[in-house]
Amino acid sequence: MRTYALTGGATGIGAAIKQRLREEGSQVIVVDIKDADIIADLSSKEGRQAAIAGIHRAASQGLDGLVTCAGLGSNATDHALVTQVNYFGTVELVEGTKDLLAAKRGAVVLISSNSAPMNQSPEFVESLCSSDEEKALSLATTLSGQEVYSGTKKAVARWMRSNAANYAAAGIRMNAVAPGYTQTPMTEQVANDPTYGPAIRDFLASIPVGFPGMPEDQAAATSFLLSEQARFICGSVLFVDGGHDAMFRPAQI
Ligand code: NAD
Repeated sequence: MRTYALTGGATGIGAAIKQRLREEGSQVIVVDIKDADIIADLSSKEGRQAAIAGIHRAASQGLDGLVTCAGLGSNATDHALVTQVNYFGTVELVEGTKDLLAAKRGAVVLISSNSAPMNQSPEFVESLCSSDEEKALSLATTLSGQEVYSGTKKAVARWMRSNAANYAAAGIRMNAVAPGYTQTPMTEQVANDPTYGPAIRDFLASIPVGFPGMPEDQAAATSFLLSEQARFICGSVLFVDGGHDAMFRPAQI
């Protein structure tokens, strides 16, 4: 039986990933702030350490994979919190379980976002990528929710690409999924937000395939990237967004 660890498995995309992997016959150790095997708050260093220790206890033989899905949306008002959960709650979990992943030549899938390429704050992204937590948290308070959200997601994808080769040398394949608009509690909140709601509805209408993503679409892509079928895929960011990224950035390749 394969053993996976998954952050953010309580609701939305993470819950669909948990369900899919369990239906495939795998054991899934869920880390979340609620409804999880390991309850941990990934916004704090202590919470992240507790999560890593809990995963080591639950999967002492090693991990076939890790999926980092916990995250907060662009409508969250505490920008430092978004930064801590989305970036540090992602990369520290990967780093802290590297030994378990190496033991079973496992795979990592980080959940980024198709908003990552659109980020307009290189200084914020740079502070994250250089692990300057103090600077990143202070910059986050000066930026918009969208800049902070997309910045954390860009930094996650960039961290993955910067580390894919050395993780591969340890037997670990790393990739990211970049979801586009997917119907979950997070997007429901943003769609109902008086500030962001109208823009979100226009955005939804512009998805090239003509419909929004469902959590199961992200789960299917994640399951594939974790599987042996994807054994030669390493360091990729897979856009699962109904064509939005291609539509917005046709020349970017
Ligand atoms: P969601 O709100 O349904 O799920 C987020 C999960 O993260 C929840 O289970 C929540 O409890 C957990 N979480 C939040 N704060 C936490 C903390 N401090 N510690 C531990 N767990 C915490 O949202 P979702 O839409 O399913 O999003 C899942 C991931 O997908 C996020 O990383 C999000 O940025 C990304 N994403 C979503 C969309 C979308 O359209 N839904 C698009 C792009 C990227």
